[in-house]
This record gives sequence, C-alpha cells and structure tokens, in this order.
Amino acid sequence: MSSESDFSKAEIGNGHRLFAGEWSFLSAAGSLESLPRPKGLEVAFAGRSNVGKSSLINALTGRRSLARTSNTPGRTQELIFFGGSSQLVLVDLPGYGYAAAAKSKVTAWTRLIHDYLHGRAALGRVYVLIDARHGLKTVDEAILDTLGKAAVSHEIVLTKCDQVSEAELAKCSDSVMRAIRKRPAAFPDLIATSARTGAGIPALRAAIARLMHERS
Ligand code: GDP
Repeated sequence: MSSESDFSKAEIGNGHRLFAGEWSFLSAAGSLESLPRPKGLEVAFAGRSNVGKSSLINALTGRRSLARTSNTPGRTQELIFFGGSSQLVLVDLPGYGYAAAAKSKVTAWTRLIHDYLHGRAALGRVYVLIDARHGLKTVDEAILDTLGKAAVSHEIVLTKCDQVSEAELAKCSDSVMRAIRKRPAAFPDLIATSARTGAGIPALRAAIARLMHERS
C-alpha cells in the first residue's frame, strides 16, 4: 500500500504545491463532441456512485464544494473538468453501478467513458475508487476491464478508510492487490485514503505530482 513514506519530502511538497492554488470548474461534457480541448495533463477519477469521489476531489483540492457531493447517486452523467494554477486537469467521471439506473443510461455511460478513454492523449492516469468497506465489486471489474483494453494507466484508491479497522483495511488491500496483479495496465499498488480524516491525501497528491514530473 502506498503511503506518505513512499514519497520523499520533496515529492510530498510538490504534491502540496500542485494542489495548493485555487481550483475551479472548467467544463462539463456529456458527449464526445463536447469534450474540451486538452490543455494539460488529465487525471481522472472513476468509481461507483456514492464511493466518495466528490469528497475525495474536494479533499485533494482543499475545496469544500468544488465537486458536488450528492445524495442522488447516478444523477450526473457528464465528465466534469476542474483546473487550477498548474497544467493539471482533474476529471470527475460519472459514477457507475447505481442499481436503479435505467439500461439506456448505463449504455450511454459506457459509450461516453469508452469514447473518452480511447485516444485521449492528455489522459495520464485514471484513479479507480473503491470503498474500503466493500472491496472490488463486479461493476468495478467491468471498468478495470475497460481501462485494461484501452491500455490506460490506472491505480486503485481506497476510500472511507476511517470506516474500517486496520485489520479490515489490510484484508481489503490484500484482496484488491491480488485482483489487480493480473492486470498489466493497472498500477501494482494502491493508496488508502479518507476524505474525512485526510489520511492518504498527501500521498495521492504526491503520486499525481510524480506522474506529472514523469510526463513532462
Ligand atoms: P460520490 O457519489 O462518489 O461523489 O460520493 P460522495 O463524495 O458524495 O460521498 C458519498 C457519501 O459518503 C457522503 O455521505 C459522504 O459524506 C460520505 N463519504 C465520502 N468520503 C468519506 C470518507 O472518507 N469517510 C467517511 N466516513 N464518509 C465519506
């Protein structure tokens, strides 16, 4: 499991600086045609509805309500782009796996994500969020399959780690690691976070800063 100790002090500082400035909404896209022209390195966040994706984006950017936390899972069927003072663009992918979503919505979601993931040169990595209480579900395996087929670099981020004991966290982490070892495009590590306590947020920022450094 990646933690702050896997990054040098300088990298933690780089991560901090990368996210320190003002972040704001850039645009939303509900179709391939409405995707914005790439303007830097994109890092996207995917996860089941209610996994804590909005909360994580808000924690990363230090904003209380940049990404909308919602009580109506499955509502937003758009990709949302956020920008700050650097060349980094955060992309909030629509939540998936909402049980009550109509089949047509699922198809539209799949097509939009598929279109975005294929051939988006600016996309550096997708973080796939997994609730530490629940572990990998079938719908998560489906997005991992899609990412693998598109050969998009991706890494698992566990969310809501404040809700599980250390033993449960270790168990969840082990089973996720076992599952992703079989996937060549998956980053062979994961980051455990809590938007509530801030645990893992400096490590995730540092990982993104490292990615930017590698890609520049
Ligand atoms: P999204 O649908 O994936 O964007 O999820 P949200 O960010 O809206 O979060 C869904 C619910 O989980 C909300 O009630 C949040 O308050 C809660 N939540 C999100 N992150 C955390 C966390 O790190 N710890 C705890 N305990 N709850 C969280």
